Amino acid sequence: LSDTLEGAFRKLAGQATINEINIGIAMRDIKRALLGADVNYKVVKKLVEDIRLKSLGEDVVKSVSPAQMIVKIVSDELTELMGGEQKPLNLSTKNLPAVVMVAGLQGSGKTTFCAKLAKRLKKGGKNPMMVAADVYRPAAVEQLKTLGLEVGVPVFSLDEQDAMKVAREGLEAARRGAHDVLILDTAGRLQIDDRMMAEAEALKNLMKPEELLFVVDSMMGQEAVNTAKAFNDRLDFDGVVLTKLDGDSRGGAALSIRQVVEKPIKFMSVGEKMDDLDQFYPDRMAQRILGMGDIVSFVEKAQENLDLEKTIQMQKKLMKNEFDLNDFLDQLQQLKKMGSIQGLIEMVPGLNKMVPKQDLENLDFKPIEAIINSMTKAEKASPEIINGSRRQRIALGSGTRVQEVNMLLKQFAEMKKMMRSVSKMTQSGRKITSQN
Ligand code: GDP
Ligand code: MG
Repeated sequence: LSDTLEGAFRKLAGQATINEINIGIAMRDIKRALLGADVNYKVVKKLVEDIRLKSLGEDVVKSVSPAQMIVKIVSDELTELMGGEQKPLNLSTKNLPAVVMVAGLQGSGKTTFCAKLAKRLKKGGKNPMMVAADVYRPAAVEQLKTLGLEVGVPVFSLDEQDAMKVAREGLEAARRGAHDVLILDTAGRLQIDDRMMAEAEALKNLMKPEELLFVVDSMMGQEAVNTAKAFNDRLDFDGVVLTKLDGDSRGGAALSIRQVVEKPIKFMSVGEKMDDLDQFYPDRMAQRILGMGDIVSFVEKAQENLDLEKTIQMQKKLMKNEFDLNDFLDQLQQLKKMGSIQGLIEMVPGLNKMVPKQDLENLDFKPIEAIINSMTKAEKASPEIINGSRRQRIALGSGTRVQEVNMLLKQFAEMKKMMRSVSKMTQSGRKITSQN
């Protein structure tokens, strides 16, 4: 995911400097990247369309570059799609203890999460107790007991294969012990099956949890979405715990699950240790999904060094097809003013991989500047008049070769063509280029 998206943002970032807004291409890359991160197809479609509409309709205020704006729109949109605000655990109840119950497939991280949550709540001044209702595997009860010992939270268990009985007696024990939170660990299967669902349903009806949390392994990718849907259809859970985000998973599952089941993601688990649990923040996850790293500060830094008035003038010229070699030179000079391009690029994760160092160090505009400076006013304004003999004169005057002059003119023509098609594409129904 990161590679394609970085590609998209790289294009956008580049546009902050060369002053064109290729929303279409950026959106195509973003779409591909999201699909590559296992984000549900329907979700991607809606997201991309939303972003496109927003980008097109957006007013560009003076202090914001188009690239900065698009980056922000994408990030905001992802954040919004994942629920916007952080949703805290709801433990308010008239009858203590408040019950937190977990459900999910085997190996998803339920037991680990129970202990982590217990530790967290204890630290926050609560007096939790855990109940081991995964009764089918003796090792599961032992696991919870061991973790309970580690985090200093008591674990209730029975030597019986009756989850309902364990839960019921656990609840009584919690009341007797004046525990204000009961965390109920349950059994999972490797696949969704009716018996597991029926038991979870029965436990839910018995315990009436304040929070029934669906625990899901983020590494499962697209399959996580199907599982979430199956559990939600049957159990109507209250929230989601996303685990194993310390792995390769980019978190695309978070986006899809939230869209498909419309339940908040409340926690994310980022490791096997008892402290590896964080509240889920949609905005941070948006950045993770995008692999943006410091993209915003990257754009801001670029922005500081760009002459905004000039940028706007340039966009107007572009619209009127008056962009000439003078403007081209201007753009190059602006690029130079940004100073250490290397430093900027290093702020964007992955970009430094894509752009070899020596290429940057060799980035030398001097010949280009020399060529353009050797042109007459008329030639700069209308490069199409530059014929063979003019080319020779310019090469001589700038100390370059005719081939270099040819190359520059060719690049300029291509760039102009591209910019025109972009400005045409973005012209309808938007104010980006005409704003000022
Ligand atoms: P359960 O079957 O749903 O109760 O899953 P467990 O809590 O027993 O976890 C299954 C395995 O995943 C264990 O080895 C855990 O240590 C591991 N695990 C759980 N959460 C995380 C996590 O966030 N990151 C990593 N790397 N491993 C985790
Ligand atoms: Mg377990």
